Amino acid sequence: MTDARERLENVRAAIARAESEAGRAAGSVRLVAVSKTFDAASIRPVLEAGQRVFGENRVQEAQGKWPALREAFPDIELHLIGPLQSNKAKEAVALFDVIETVDRDKIAAEIAREMARQNRAPRLYVQVNTGSEPQKAGVGPQDAVAFVARCRDVHGLSVAGLMCIPPADENPGPHFALLEKLAREAGVAELSMGMSADYETAVAFGATAVRVGSAIFGSR
Ligand SMILES: *Cc1c(COP(=O)(O)O)cnc(C)c1O
Repeated sequence: MTDARERLENVRAAIARAESEAGRAAGSVRLVAVSKTFDAASIRPVLEAGQRVFGENRVQEAQGKWPALREAFPDIELHLIGPLQSNKAKEAVALFDVIETVDRDKIAAEIAREMARQNRAPRLYVQVNTGSEPQKAGVGPQDAVAFVARCRDVHGLSVAGLMCIPPADENPGPHFALLEKLAREAGVAELSMGMSADYETAVAFGATAVRVGSAIFGSR
């Protein structure tokens, strides 16, 4: 067993434990293995251990490694978890199965146009900047519900859920609780929240997907 495989097993076990402690159904939380900065050779053992859902934060980096891996493992599900520039919408719609970082009208419009052009339908999450940090992407919490409605009514997009990255130096619990509340108000079901340091907490707060990188692949 390689290190990454062992760490993957540990993360899976910790998620199962957190689900059970929170009284949630086994398997209700999706593990997104965040492989950014790691090359195909490092990702392969994790694929061979059965993991199929991965997250990348850069379109160009993902284009460089995933098409070949997909030939070997056709049932891969790829999530874009980093900020999306509108000039990359075409590539993002072509490559990703889930785009977690929709956060402004311009991007929503570009994604809608590319989905029609390419006849593809990646699932979409709206990123919420729950800590209202000026340097961070995401729609402000006060605008989140209205933006989800605009995605639907103005851009014709169906939003599956919300995603957040809490401020690094704060207790994440209140941010997870806020995201859960906003998702309820917006009428969307999926909650992408929790990373290596806090995914068990996120499961307790209702995460349906956790994005775990270094706890699986090692430090970057
Ligand atoms: C890098 C990254 C992660 C994974 O972070 P780890 O702390 O390594 O688990 C999760 N979400 C986003 C948006 C990221 O950019």
